[in-house]
Amino acid sequence: MKITDLNASGGIGANSHFVKIGPFNILVDCGLHPKMIGKQALPNYNLLGVDNLDLIIVTHCHLDHLGSLPVIAALHPHAPIITSIPNVSLAPRMLRNSINVMKRQREEHGIVDYPLFLHRDISHVNKQLVAQRYSSGEIYYKNGENIEVILHPAGHVVGAAAVELVYKHRRIVFSGDILFDNQLTLAGAKLPKPPIDTLILETTRGAHSRAEGTSRSTEVDRFVLKMNEILARGGSCLIPVFALGRMQEVLKIVYNARSAGKLARCPIVAAGLGMDLCNYFDKIRKKSNLIDFDIRILDHMGVKNLEFNLRPGRDLSNKGIYIVSSGMMVQHTPSYKLAAAMLAHKHNGVCFVGYCDPDTPGGELLGTKNMDYFYFHALDYRAKIQASVDQFDLSGHADRDELANYAIKSSARVIVLNHGEELARQWFQEYLEQELPKANILNLVPGKEYNI
Ligand SMILES: [Zn+2]
Ligand SMILES: [Zn+2]
Repeated sequence: MKITDLNASGGIGANSHFVKIGPFNILVDCGLHPKMIGKQALPNYNLLGVDNLDLIIVTHCHLDHLGSLPVIAALHPHAPIITSIPNVSLAPRMLRNSINVMKRQREEHGIVDYPLFLHRDISHVNKQLVAQRYSSGEIYYKNGENIEVILHPAGHVVGAAAVELVYKHRRIVFSGDILFDNQLTLAGAKLPKPPIDTLILETTRGAHSRAEGTSRSTEVDRFVLKMNEILARGGSCLIPVFALGRMQEVLKIVYNARSAGKLARCPIVAAGLGMDLCNYFDKIRKKSNLIDFDIRILDHMGVKNLEFNLRPGRDLSNKGIYIVSSGMMVQHTPSYKLAAAMLAHKHNGVCFVGYCDPDTPGGELLGTKNMDYFYFHALDYRAKIQASVDQFDLSGHADRDELANYAIKSSARVIVLNHGEELARQWFQEYLEQELPKANILNLVPGKEYNI
């Protein structure tokens, strides 16, 4: 088989791999680079021919895996787009939101490439989408040969799948993004059992090991204690969240903690795309039972929408828990504006529940000491950080030891490292070379075709 990493800039970037195996041309994932602007954010689709893809497979609906699907689908209109059942409704919703964000950016920053696609392109995507159940194979034929595609639950976020391709008894597995731990809303990954011939492995968390003695459940407990502490001192608690998956998980953590008498009752405010996705999650639960999220918990908790009369430096009059997008406190989002209102008041607290890229405002805030100043560029406002700022390891990604253990057990002949920054890939490279001396561990050069 031949494989090319189309993510032009390496790192986490715009996830996309082109695979040629027998007569089949297959694209796995079609992301957009979260830190690039305009066409620069696209995978290097110039390396593909015209209308020559036989299959497009989407592992899940985060934009670094999904964001350029309408672009590539329009160039390959005959390729079925295979994905799990929840993604058939979630993908168009995420893409429509992406168009709105791109249109806003075009106006605000004059980015002429935006939007990269239009609503009518999403209608075409809808026609190409093919829902596939987890764990049951579908066979595709070409020139008298066949390939089997199997999707396996990958945890991480609703709809996430690891992708197994079986061609002439050779098993190739793309992990996609994985979480083995159960979340409150979603069961953990159930990946294919060994022996696997070729494993394409995500490496997001390769640069760090999990803090000694902590687990997901101890982090949830610490998070609940911190929220209580902030409320008890008369402050508000800001929780910046990703709209897809993280917001619903945090709502459920808060709901369960309150029901168990572990969290003081207070107003709860939520805002952003995540609130609309709550409706989608509820429908997915009713239809497929692939998620444990019931929209009625919002009513039980009296969740209110955010009122946007926020001013930098003016503390919130309505004390409570604010669960809002975006997870990395990106400029112009509710979490950014709320942080500007809250940060200079010492009874308040900010709780990050996932990874923050160091180049984002959330990452910058985590890297700034208490009592130092934090500058909100988009608001031209400087705040002395008096609120508490904490981070909790409730990541949607498996830690590096769990991933390495899976790779070792897979007894794969070839392991391709993917979807991680260079330091993260290096850790995997060294560790796996030592543990699997016979395996070929590859860190692909973007754009180069490898015969494996
Ligand atoms: Zn993801
Ligand atoms: Zn990802």
